[in-house]
Amino acid sequence: MKDQLLFLLELQTIDNKVKELDAARQSLPTRTEPLRRDLAKLEGMLGGERTKLAETETWKKQQAELLAREQEALRSAKSKLQGSKTGKEYNAASREVDNKRKSINDREAELKKVTEALSSSGTVISERDSAVAQLREQLIAEEAQIAVKVEELARQIAEASAGREGLRAKIEKGWLKTYDTLAGKRGYAVSPVIGGVCQGCQMRIPPQLNNILARMESLEMCPRCGRIIYRKEMLDPPAAPPAT
Ligand SMILES: [Zn+2]
Repeated sequence: MKDQLLFLLELQTIDNKVKELDAARQSLPTRTEPLRRDLAKLEGMLGGERTKLAETETWKKQQAELLAREQEALRSAKSKLQGSKTGKEYNAASREVDNKRKSINDREAELKKVTEALSSSGTVISERDSAVAQLREQLIAEEAQIAVKVEELARQIAEASAGREGLRAKIEKGWLKTYDTLAGKRGYAVSPVIGGVCQGCQMRIPPQLNNILARMESLEMCPRCGRIIYRKEMLDPPAAPPAT
């Protein structure tokens, strides 16, 4: 029976180690999440800026076309003014020239403002562009580091699991099933009893059971948590008192 208990404990040690390594492996890729979020946010902002820039550029182009048309209209108003024969014609042409000049001035002022705005948003975009590029590089570098660590952990898991199947083959099927069920339900299956108390659930076990455990003739289960129990001092005897 002691052999079976030792096999179960050995299996538990392997399973705990593998579980711990696997948790570390699972958690590694989540480390880049804050960086990914930052990058997505910046990319979103950059996309918005680019859309706005494109819209402004379209608007500027339209304004420039209108300006060209107005300048054309001004030229024809000027030639009408020169060719006017009557005072009435002259007044009308003169008003038209003034109107065209005014709207050309207004539009030129608008265009100047828009050109300035375009230049400053171009600067903002190129700054964001380099920030995004930098974050992307950082992300790639971190992911590469993580990939190395994940691989290393996978190697450690394989190493820790070596011999696991052979060990399981040595354990009686019924106990193996109990072990697997408990490990799944309670986290771990085999628990020491110290001073009559099950360390799995902190219950004091009945004295008769504690006596049975001392004989090491059978595998027993804790009446409360169901874990397979053993008396710790039977496997790790306290250090012998120094000889006197
Ligand atoms: Zn218990």
